[in-house]
Amino acid sequence: MRYEAPKTLDQAIALLSGANGRAKVLAGGTDVLIQLRSGRAQPELLVDIKSISEMRSIAVDSSGYRIGAAVTCMELIEDEAFARAWPGIIDGVKYIGSIQVKGRATMGGNLCNASPAADSVPALIAAGAVVCIAGPLGRREAPVEDFVLGPGRTSLGSGELVAWFQLPRRAPHSGDAYLRFTPRTEMDIAVVGAAVNIALDDKGVCSRARVSLGAVAARALLVPEAAAALIGTRVDESALARLAAAASAACRPIDDKRGTKEFRIKVAGVMARRAAATALERARRQN
Ligand SMILES: Cc1cc2nc3c(=O)[nH]c(=O)nc-3n(C[C@H](O)[C@H](O)[C@H](O)COP(=O)(O)OP(=O)(O)OC[C@H]3O[C@@H](n4cnc5c(N)ncnc54)[C@H](O)[C@@H]3O)c2cc1C
Repeated sequence: MRYEAPKTLDQAIALLSGANGRAKVLAGGTDVLIQLRSGRAQPELLVDIKSISEMRSIAVDSSGYRIGAAVTCMELIEDEAFARAWPGIIDGVKYIGSIQVKGRATMGGNLCNASPAADSVPALIAAGAVVCIAGPLGRREAPVEDFVLGPGRTSLGSGELVAWFQLPRRAPHSGDAYLRFTPRTEMDIAVVGAAVNIALDDKGVCSRARVSLGAVAARALLVPEAAAALIGTRVDESALARLAAAASAACRPIDDKRGTKEFRIKVAGVMARRAAATALERARRQN
């Protein structure tokens, strides 16, 4: 197996395109190394993207944040301005593994690994994040909710990779939050994850909302019916109850050792409701 660490995006694309599908991108390696050691992945070429500077940077301008796909979770957590702007995304990133894992792992890898339980993905969907995909045919964008097709499957074409995430500018009086349920406090994957992003108008009425659920279907879901339960309300008890019901109704979970379908459906409503309450509190604090 060959290992390459290109310095530019174009070099990475040329390497990936030239390998006829027998190459794998290596970001933090916290999923890839396990796949290599178990024999589940047997690439002929590993393309390490951590030396590509435009994929390692966190940039902000009037249109919002641009987060390189090779930025580590720890680098993101330590960026105080980003953590103030998007605390829900930080909630998600903080759940990923241990401090050591977060020192290597990236949101790009979390998304491209395409696990339905990936912890950073629901908050990215709730935020309205877009992925910029680069490949031999040029660049294209896709909303995060459309990127994953199912467990282990993404919409990346041959020779393509995720270059960065684009996040919209944070609206005034808005806030986001992500919560997950696991039987243990850390180092386990989500049984259910819920992210809520809301904006309030000057009177404290919810003017915009996005709700996303993880680990309750083959991929993380955007749930517009749950968001609709909040819009036009003061996010009071009855709105939260309707949100919880809509979140539970959207679930299409599996049974496994971590939880039954019925349990996941019920907990999704509870998690969505709690995430909305935290997002509301954060929105009220934001100018
Ligand atoms: C002990 C442990 C605990 C963990 N706990 C959690 C947890 O609680 N929650 C959770 O969600 N995950 C968890 N994980 C899984 C893993 O850490 C995350 O999915 C992580 O975000 C993967 O990022 P990475 O940079 O290491 O990806 P890598 O392992 O480098 O890559 C993952 C996949 O994405 C592809 N890829 C990576 N970057 C790109 C790109 N830019 N473009 C195209 N393809 C790309 C790779 O080819 C590979 O298929 C855990 C892992 C370990 C080892």
